[in-house]
Amino acid sequence: MVRLPRRLENELGCKDYRVATHTTQASVTGEKERNLAMVMIHDKVWFHSAGTSARYAKKRAAEAALEALDGLPEFEFRKRYRCDCVDSEDKADKEDETGGSW
Ligand SMILES: [Zn+2]
Repeated sequence: MVRLPRRLENELGCKDYRVATHTTQASVTGEKERNLAMVMIHDKVWFHSAGTSARYAKKRAAEAALEALDGLPEFEFRKRYRCDCVDSEDKADKEDETGGSW
């Protein structure tokens, strides 16, 4: 299985992503703490999974992301996830009056 960073960085050229986890302490005695794992692309949470194990929550969130990105063309990825990682590199060349209206 292709790992998420490889898919995002090497194949889609996106560097602005991260997998974050958040733990919620149990408020009721006997209840287990909950772990929330989130896959963020360009500061937006796109995939998440919750469970008692942070490791598994992370794994499931990453798997959901990989599944959604599977077979997704690069241009479609950038449009859907508002990714401008590739464009921003050669922005100096086309920083003229084109504006952003299309
Ligand atoms: Zn990006």
